[in-house]
Amino acid sequence: MTAEPVLNAARPENERAELLRWMKTELHAEYGDRHLDPRREPMHELISTILSQRTTWQDEAAAYDELCEIGDWDAIIAAPTEAVAHAIRRSNYPESKAPRIQETLRRIRDSPGGYNLEFLRDMPSKDALKWLTDLPGVGVKTASLVLLFNYAHPVFPVDTHVHRITTRVGAIPLMGEQAAHRALLKVLPEDPPFLYELHLNLLRHGQQVCQWSRPKCGVCVLRERCDAFALFGDKVPSFSETKTKGKGTATRKRT
Ligand code: SF4
Repeated sequence: MTAEPVLNAARPENERAELLRWMKTELHAEYGDRHLDPRREPMHELISTILSQRTTWQDEAAAYDELCEIGDWDAIIAAPTEAVAHAIRRSNYPESKAPRIQETLRRIRDSPGGYNLEFLRDMPSKDALKWLTDLPGVGVKTASLVLLFNYAHPVFPVDTHVHRITTRVGAIPLMGEQAAHRALLKVLPEDPPFLYELHLNLLRHGQQVCQWSRPKCGVCVLRERCDAFALFGDKVPSFSETKTKGKGTATRKRT
């Protein structure tokens, strides 16, 4: 007898690892190759990613550009915090991000390499993650992005899209984004090009198909193995609803 699909099932690790490999293959067929090339230099990646939290990429880019109009990193550290907050006002929560960015820059300036983060390349991934996440305003997603994108460390940034899709499909049980980092990393291969491509293709899939509310399951290449689709058909609830109600919501079967 085939077991009923259950949203947020706690699958064995080997099954979750296989499911993620299958997702990567399907998304590759849909969106193609992604070559692991740094998209911007490490300090730019770090500060931009802090600015990107709860912010669209257009606003993030505008905030970064205006921040740089203050001057170099030293000038940003020396500027009044209100001026920094004003420069990054298109990013959400500028008043809390401004002092954190200044303190992060100060600590990096005072580190042995100064603003050159190249030393992170040869550090063990665990230590490099710790070094970055000890900086104010730098969470595990930001640190993972810098380490994977710029230094090809085998880490996996979990943003809202990655979190939502892997939860709906059933690659991880329902949990917060922080915990999802650990859960996914445990079952993903230590293969930076694989991790990079999977991250970028999940991001694209989340923007175009598996959206927060009303995901377009009818055109989704992950549909055949997606727990949420198996349970809810083309009426997959918004992700807020899944997060609020958790396990108990999974009652409807595929029609
Ligand atoms: S089938 Fe629907 S819920 Fe599942 S991954 Fe695709 S779009 Fe998302």
